[in-house]
Amino acid sequence: MRSYSIALLALGLFTYSCNAGSKESKSDTDSIQPTTLQKAVFNADSAYSYVKSQVEIGPRVPGSWEHDRCAKYLVSELKRHKADTVIEQIATVKAYTGDILPINNIMGRYNLPINKRVLLVAHWDTRPWADNEAKMQDRERPVPGANDGASGVGVLLEVARQLSIRKPDIGIDILFTDAEDYGRTEGWGSSEETWALGAQHWVKNMPYGKGQYPVYGILLDMVGGLDARFHREYFSEQYAPAILDKVWSIANASGYGQIFINKPAGGITDDHIFINRAGIPCIDIIECLNPVTKSFPPTWHTLSDDMSSIDRNSLKAVGQTVLNTIYNEPAQ
Ligand SMILES: [Zn+2]
Repeated sequence: MRSYSIALLALGLFTYSCNAGSKESKSDTDSIQPTTLQKAVFNADSAYSYVKSQVEIGPRVPGSWEHDRCAKYLVSELKRHKADTVIEQIATVKAYTGDILPINNIMGRYNLPINKRVLLVAHWDTRPWADNEAKMQDRERPVPGANDGASGVGVLLEVARQLSIRKPDIGIDILFTDAEDYGRTEGWGSSEETWALGAQHWVKNMPYGKGQYPVYGILLDMVGGLDARFHREYFSEQYAPAILDKVWSIANASGYGQIFINKPAGGITDDHIFINRAGIPCIDIIECLNPVTKSFPPTWHTLSDDMSSIDRNSLKAVGQTVLNTIYNEPAQ
């Protein structure tokens, strides 16, 4: 994904707060007391191991052997966690480079007979180029994608494991999108369609009839960064402010108010843009106002996006908030 925050700042669309987590001591989310919201306990060690398993396969660049192997891993995990059905949406898309990419959008569906559904999304591919590296030769190498890719998927695999233990009152669709991160960084604004190629294909081929769309979606992207803070992303605010309100207030009531900051951040080109345009209100939980970079975490699109950049506390805060949201969503 890419960020619009600098451009938006230049346009003066909104102002930033600079108190985002800079002074507080590192929070230990495991010490937070369970609330009445908590009907299932998110296991951060389990999520961490799902992140690690993906990183150990290698970079998941569309068309690579590792990409193929990871697809098989994700399908087998969703089946192991008792999804009612697992859909593999296999296709080819054309990247802006001219490359023809074999993609696979993988979806695990739970509580299939229930009409009221919530969509949980993360991209599982990784960027083919570490174009944020200082040295030119390093920019040609693929990123390990621990935070950018594997973190969101790892959290959702642990959510899937919880769903196999206890069913919520609503239907849940877990979607792993492909080819999110093959886009063009230069020429901002004109290159939006070069990103989220898997999600763009998916919205044209959704497994929903008219009037049967999920009531909302939650996209997780870069949710495992060290001491991460999550702000209200700009396009989520434009398309789905009520969902942002719901999730941020649940995070706060769950004890994660120091991590889910109820303040605005810049706009991100990510899968949620295309899901929103297709008619499903969808927010993006993403670290995009890092205190050091004022944007994404420092490891973004670098070779340092490895397991050393993953924080169990960040996975826990996001995963527990997602569980508390879906397990408290009423059936009607
Ligand atoms: Zn990325």
